[in-house]
Amino acid sequence: MSDGDRIVIVGAGVAGLRSAERLRELGFDGEIVIVGDERRKPYHRPMVSKQLVTGQVRPIDVDLKSYVDLDAHWRLGTRATHLDTKQRVVHLPGKEDLWYDGLIIATGVVPRHLAGAPRHDPRVRVLRTVEDAMSLRRALTASSKPAVVIGSGLIGCEFAASMRTLGRDVTLVGHAKAPLYRFGPRVAEAVTETHEKHRAGLAMNSEVRHWISTKDAFGLHLTNNKLVVASCVVLAIGSVPAVDWLRGSGLDISDGVLCEATLFAEGADDVVVAGDAARWPNLRFDETPRRVEHWINAVESARAAAENLMAGRHLAKPFTPLPRAWSSIYEHRLQMAGMPALGEDTVRLDDGVTGFLRSGQLVGAASWDKPRAMLRWTAELERRLPVPEYTPQPAPSLETEALPALSEDMVFSDEEWLRVEQGV
Ligand SMILES: Cc1cc2nc3c(=O)[nH]c(=O)nc-3n(C[C@H](O)[C@H](O)[C@H](O)COP(=O)(O)OP(=O)(O)OC[C@H]3O[C@@H](n4cnc5c(N)ncnc54)[C@H](O)[C@@H]3O)c2cc1C
Repeated sequence: MSDGDRIVIVGAGVAGLRSAERLRELGFDGEIVIVGDERRKPYHRPMVSKQLVTGQVRPIDVDLKSYVDLDAHWRLGTRATHLDTKQRVVHLPGKEDLWYDGLIIATGVVPRHLAGAPRHDPRVRVLRTVEDAMSLRRALTASSKPAVVIGSGLIGCEFAASMRTLGRDVTLVGHAKAPLYRFGPRVAEAVTETHEKHRAGLAMNSEVRHWISTKDAFGLHLTNNKLVVASCVVLAIGSVPAVDWLRGSGLDISDGVLCEATLFAEGADDVVVAGDAARWPNLRFDETPRRVEHWINAVESARAAAENLMAGRHLAKPFTPLPRAWSSIYEHRLQMAGMPALGEDTVRLDDGVTGFLRSGQLVGAASWDKPRAMLRWTAELERRLPVPEYTPQPAPSLETEALPALSEDMVFSDEEWLRVEQGV
């Protein structure tokens, strides 16, 4: 990229913001346009299910500050509808075409919907945005009946904890045998005890069999034959990448946007991807492309994507982080490092940390209220999972490419010369 170029960033979340900052830090002096379908500038999304939904902070308190003068054009409340990588154009509503020299895709994920749930009933909600949290707060104020959260993963557990912090009755419904089971039996046991201590209802190993809708409540008939009543149901059963707008663009969007190890999108020039939407092979672990849905990864991948876009495809470096994440549930802190999901076995490491092993090798760690031990194990993971030696991709060489035979009467257009110089 050079000055005078335009870089478009689609997605005004943390990854969009941090990639724009990195462009400016690197001295990019051209135009930056940030397109976001929410009406707000980027904010601290993890607070949505914690301090914001409980009313401990106001929407204005969750705004993210920029570290540098961004000098960006914000197109908020605007949804990108299509991408044409050949013409290098992002389509916006109203037939507007936004051309780019470089594109950063940072559209994140959207909550997964539950088959069979009454999708359009306003009492069935998801929790992802500031608006979701505020309208949920209003609904909770309007009725003192209990709430149910379906899904016993991170957001489900956080929301259940927030409800109990507000003194509201809540039941957590999940099909795993214990909440947060994917972080190992010790974390699952600790979170179960904590929910029980705070008198949150737990309906594990169960799913909703029937939804019974009445005027002021839902009855949820569960597969464990229990009936739970709720004035409001929050669905927290995971997310799907927000990549619908890329349909027909030629990019592989089977689970997020498929990228090379450098975060360059497969099959498109000058397009990089950051945050929850990127599926890339983290060579620290192996060559399988995967997505990571955590805050620190969104920040780090945003910076790496911006650096690689500036460097260009042939000088770009693989993005090889050691993923780290946290969650706060009641007054407790859950931490993870590495890739626990790759573990085939768990092992008790010292100081109450759970290790995750793949073919006998430590690939992840998780802990409940063990911040110091977690620091040590994160460093240990870094040591045990070294970043493989990086060999830059050779730039296409003019000597090895079959170039057209030149004769004096051949007149090349600028575009053709460019193609010859780039060896394509
Ligand atoms: C409630 C909640 C709590 C969380 N808590 C934690 C936590 O405690 N710890 C942790 O590590 N992680 C947590 N996460 C995950 C973390 O917030 C995400 O990993 C992070 O926000 C990802 O950043 P992103 O910029 O990739 O995506 P997002 O933050 O989702 O931003 C993407 C933006 O792009 C917009 N967009 C989508 N499609 C389009 C389009 N076509 N055109 C224009 N704009 C578009 C979206 O509306 C959104 O504003 C939490 C997530 C949620 C929802």
